[in-house]
Amino acid sequence: MAEKVVIIGSGPAGWTAAIYAARAELEPLVYEGAVTAENQANGTLPLGQLNLTTEIENYPGFPEGETFDLLRSALPVEMQPYWVQDQQPQPNKGINGPELMQLMKQQALNFGTRVVTDDIVKVDLKRKPFLLRSREGSTVEAMTVIVATGARANYLGLPSEHAYKNRGVSACAVCDGALPRFRGKPLAVVGGGDSAIEEATYLTKYASLVHLVHRRDTLRASKIMQERALKNSKIKPRWNKVVDEVLGSDKNGVTGVRLVDTVNGLKEDLEVSGLFLGIGHTPNTAFLDGQIELTEKAYIKLTAPFRTYTSVPGVFAAGDVADDNYRQAVTAAGSGCMAALDAERWLAEHHH
Ligand code: NAP
Repeated sequence: MAEKVVIIGSGPAGWTAAIYAARAELEPLVYEGAVTAENQANGTLPLGQLNLTTEIENYPGFPEGETFDLLRSALPVEMQPYWVQDQQPQPNKGINGPELMQLMKQQALNFGTRVVTDDIVKVDLKRKPFLLRSREGSTVEAMTVIVATGARANYLGLPSEHAYKNRGVSACAVCDGALPRFRGKPLAVVGGGDSAIEEATYLTKYASLVHLVHRRDTLRASKIMQERALKNSKIKPRWNKVVDEVLGSDKNGVTGVRLVDTVNGLKEDLEVSGLFLGIGHTPNTAFLDGQIELTEKAYIKLTAPFRTYTSVPGVFAAGDVADDNYRQAVTAAGSGCMAALDAERWLAEHHH
């Protein structure tokens, strides 16, 4: 029997799609991804990119602060929950990425979502029902598919960068920042967007100094994050610089980076024990093998405004895999909801 809805991916888009599909009694099956060394290296483990972040300050519903105080000041007494009326504060300090993802997954499970911890590596979208093959070799037939495989962090592509991956080169400060090799040492972060700023700010907890290496002299990051970072005495901006080479040795891993000035071409060596990349993302669409139309940046092309339709009827896309613009947890979750509703309507029209 073909599945009614198979959801590929386990970030906010995937779990939200699962919550809505499960509540619509479509019995969704989620392929949440495999726990492999390759996925670890690529940043494509289950629960997606949010699982690799720290505090989530912009996901509505999880304000930082005591829920008790917020509800007590915001609501008239008769509308306050019993534990607020009874003066029983319950600690609540906002939410972090891994917590949010576990809660989303739990919410999907609560409504009967089934989960397979494996990657979909091959698809046949020309036949009906669609056929999906997992890394471990199992196959599943699906009447509709929701692709929510997200995107992964980019690297510069330097041979020296590749040589020192996991020995001082990382694209995830939250995963690696606390390692002994980085503690109390100067580090470098490349990029000028929110990711780079977030990484640099996070790393100041452990590093003696963080060089923020950016190829221009203005940041792309949101104003509030820029201000916080530029006020931080442990972050030193290195404007108009690109990394030309990662320096190091077999024994010590990364020991420095060679920078080139983008204005005057001058080279400079910085002594650092780690290089963190914050230079954007690549969508996880290769497994679709050209069977769905992609944009020129390889994101899934949505074919109708305010819909999650793709070039293949019955296949829907949600979250970062189809979004190179907003890329937020809340927009991913919203589009996951849309994809589930689109799939539900599509099934009603085509499969009664
Ligand atoms: P991004 O906004 O695309 O920024 C990428 C940065 O890397 C840019 O500054 C870019 O330089 C630089 N860059 C790209 N390729 C490079 C290369 N080969 N060499 C050197 N520098 C390079 O990506 P992002 O920072 O990952 O953010 C993506 C989205 O997620 C954004 O919408 C952002 O707001 C959101 N986000 C939000 C938060 C948060 O709210 N807490 C945290 C992280 C991300 P140029 O500026 O010169 O192009």
